[in-house]
Amino acid sequence: MAGEETNGTAPVKENATTLASRLQHLSLSAQTVHADDFLNSHSAVAPPMHVSTTFRYSRNPDELSYMVNTSPHNAHDSHIYSRMTAPNTQRFEAILTSILRGPSLSYSSGLSAFHAMVVFLNPKRIAIGGGYHGCHGVIRVMQKLTGLRQLDLDCADAELGPGDLIHVETPLNPTGEARDLEFYAAKARRTGAVLSVDATFAPPPLLDPFAFGVDVVMHSGTKYFGGHSDMLCGVLAVAPHRAEEWLPKLLMERLFLGSVMGSMEGWLGIRSLRTLELRVLKQSADAEKLVRWLATEKERAGSVVADAVAEIQHASLQVKNNGKGEELAWLRRQMPNGFGPVFALSLKDENDARRLPSKLVLFHHATSLGGVESLIEWRSMTDASVDKRLLRLSIGVEGWEDLRDDLVQGFEALAKERAGAAQSG
Ligand SMILES: *Cc1c(COP(=O)(O)O)cnc(C)c1O
Repeated sequence: MAGEETNGTAPVKENATTLASRLQHLSLSAQTVHADDFLNSHSAVAPPMHVSTTFRYSRNPDELSYMVNTSPHNAHDSHIYSRMTAPNTQRFEAILTSILRGPSLSYSSGLSAFHAMVVFLNPKRIAIGGGYHGCHGVIRVMQKLTGLRQLDLDCADAELGPGDLIHVETPLNPTGEARDLEFYAAKARRTGAVLSVDATFAPPPLLDPFAFGVDVVMHSGTKYFGGHSDMLCGVLAVAPHRAEEWLPKLLMERLFLGSVMGSMEGWLGIRSLRTLELRVLKQSADAEKLVRWLATEKERAGSVVADAVAEIQHASLQVKNNGKGEELAWLRRQMPNGFGPVFALSLKDENDARRLPSKLVLFHHATSLGGVESLIEWRSMTDASVDKRLLRLSIGVEGWEDLRDDLVQGFEALAKERAGAAQSG
């Protein structure tokens, strides 16, 4: 492992490709704990937090060279000004590069990452479905500046051409249902378009978009990478075959857009990624157990769930049925390790959907997702395009039985209120 002091001898820089292939043999958690070791030049086990915006140049005039400012202790550690790179975000990006299997850059938020991607690719047309409403807001801002045209995700091939962008979100906000990446990768190949995916709802180890022909992967790192509801973050990862051409340009454009993460967020991000696999696997497995329980209760006559719930949506239900009683093979292939911690409940009654969150004790009624705390949101609080009967649930790490019991007492409280209202009315 790297990390020894170099005692004044010139540090040896391991070739980036050798480093990447060495890390790819490690498990996901071994990568999230160690993929940044090569940047650790101090004996402290935990990373330091550097708040500096600017970095001293060498006192040896012969060592001064344009845009290179290598640290005397570590040949990978080269910083000049924190709008370009900074130590905490660089270590955070080193871990992301390893686990996303493509060179990764961080941004100040998910939407600033999406914005940077659209600015960089500068497509004439973007084919996009529903999904996260904020990305549509970014497109409207871009339309003010360029002639960018928005097409339906499932538009005809003839409407797309080389340089255009197909942007797929999977699993989809707010329902947690998935889309077939191989299908859209084939469409991108046929039309010459670039394929990007917003994989926020399925971080590693749930989904590896590059295995299905995707060119750019975007994440709102605010969600699972942060995982504790305390940092904003966006990520772009570039497919290895595009990286040599695209990465230096994306980095240069980020320098001018200025949408970099702060050092505190970089530090929190490293702290959070260490436990990514533990959190995500548990949250996803617990969501699946809750969905299975809810689906059973919904069919059981007399249950408080059956009285209130009209529909449950999640990729774990979607995979079960292709209409012929068979599994969806593409979905099992695309998400072999679980279907993600977010699902949606559509209630029969809008008033129930508005009131259920306030009956719950363990679920916070709040927007966002991906944190260790379970959240429920009456989605029309923040997305006017969503049906007013829809609740979005993001499962945290509390344990599914306690969350189930909380939902039961919540549905019971609703039922009691309905009975009371019927009596007095
Ligand atoms: C939250 C979210 C975003 C936006 O990310 P921010 O970090 O809030 O800017 C984009 N896409 C999806 C799917 C999201 O859930």
